[in-house]
Amino acid sequence: MQRILIRDVLQLPGDDRSIQVAGWVRTRRDSRGGFSFLEINDGSTIKNIQIVAEATLANYESEILTATTGASVFVSGTLKASPGKGQSVEIHAGSVTVLGGADASFPIQKKRHSFEYLREIAHLRPRTNTFGAVFRLRNAISFAIHKFFQENGFYYIHTPIITGNDAEGAGQLFHVTNFDLDQVPKRDQEPGRGGVAFEKDFFGAPVHLTVSGQLEGEAYAMSLGRIYTFGPTFRAENSNTSRHLAEFWMVEPEMAFATLEDDAQLAEDFLRYVFKYVLEHSRDDLEFFNQWIDKSCLARLESLADSPFERMSYTEAVTILEQAAQTKSKKFEFPVAWGRDLQSEHERYLCEEHVGKPVILTDYPKEIKAFYMRLNDDDKTVRAMDVLVPGVGEIIGGSEREDRLDVLEARMRDHGLEPDAYQWYLDLRRYGSTPHAGFGLGLERLVQFISGMENIRDVVPFPRTPGNASF
Ligand code: ATP
Ligand code: MN
Repeated sequence: MQRILIRDVLQLPGDDRSIQVAGWVRTRRDSRGGFSFLEINDGSTIKNIQIVAEATLANYESEILTATTGASVFVSGTLKASPGKGQSVEIHAGSVTVLGGADASFPIQKKRHSFEYLREIAHLRPRTNTFGAVFRLRNAISFAIHKFFQENGFYYIHTPIITGNDAEGAGQLFHVTNFDLDQVPKRDQEPGRGGVAFEKDFFGAPVHLTVSGQLEGEAYAMSLGRIYTFGPTFRAENSNTSRHLAEFWMVEPEMAFATLEDDAQLAEDFLRYVFKYVLEHSRDDLEFFNQWIDKSCLARLESLADSPFERMSYTEAVTILEQAAQTKSKKFEFPVAWGRDLQSEHERYLCEEHVGKPVILTDYPKEIKAFYMRLNDDDKTVRAMDVLVPGVGEIIGGSEREDRLDVLEARMRDHGLEPDAYQWYLDLRRYGSTPHAGFGLGLERLVQFISGMENIRDVVPFPRTPGNASF
């Protein structure tokens, strides 16, 4: 079907050239003057093109007047300068073919629908302005991510989705098995108390969906030097928040010969690169978000693209939060104390109210961070960093990795992990160990931050959350 994308048509002059487009009808208005206006959208841009269809067209009564919101049409005509406001060109139709009709039961009518309602029709919501914009933006961000790493010497590595490694040390895992769940083979040493006989399972061992590609990514950083992963990640955390999904996409760069400072710099350069990229390439969609979703969207991106992020240690942050809780009588739901993990409300206070821009927090207490983070000389904190952004809180979590074999083994035991199960990972410290560092970024949180969309369920095509895996 020969056609030009509406995105490209809108760049052309109204010079009477002949043109073909296809799309879905957003609205149709019939004028008494003997013609109809069809606003059509083909998904290539947030903008619609206006089609002028004269009543003299052969199928005007029989077909064009049946083309209501949601119907798909193919239009052949001439491109004219538009006298109307808000558009530079329009198409005067020579013919309009209705490819697929849509009747009044089409669930997206020309009115504002709530995001909750649209989640129930997740297969049709990309036909709305908002979701079209979200998913074009998500595409642009994904492309910018690849572009940044490719331009900076990072190789894209595909780490496994099914794995026996638990990168977090205490994971909420989705187990993968091909056992018949009604008849799971048990080891029958003690009647009634036998454990699962994983040796009879497909892989001969317990495995799960990956919670992070980091450990495997490290093996490749310790050979190719700089790598990144970018793929689906699964966590069975039963947290029904606006920032957690059970299936999300994570980007995990890892660098050999790098320290925490290099890692923080990479995170900052990376985020600012993506901000600049979308400001340049997703302008129309960002303007839509700025007008309808978050009035500070464009100003925020523009100011961040050029200004450095704040840096602060966890210990300094706790002092600031404690003072805020005391003097400014800031009410936090959860208490703040050195040694406790920061809650989203604390993270957001730091970047939204205290500094007013993204903050990179470093050197967290070892007890609240993963076993693989490099222990500081104080023996209390680890070389961890979280990047916190206004509106979302934690968007990136990373660290310099523990590169000393004996310390890493001790830290595993502290975390209740058996070093024997991680021999291959320990080999990376046994042979040619180097300082190395990396981080994980949740793609959806970045899309949320850039667009201003409040709920993470609205920036992923088909959200998976506790109790919901529809579609
Ligand atoms: P949080 O404390 O917000 O649950 P986390 O500390 O568990 O995050 P990490 O294990 O450091 O997160 O994962 C790296 C990044 O992956 C996070 O900074 C975040 O952007 C993203 N992320 C983590 N869990 C989820 C989730 N359930 N849904 C979406 N993104 C997530
Ligand atoms: Mn988490």
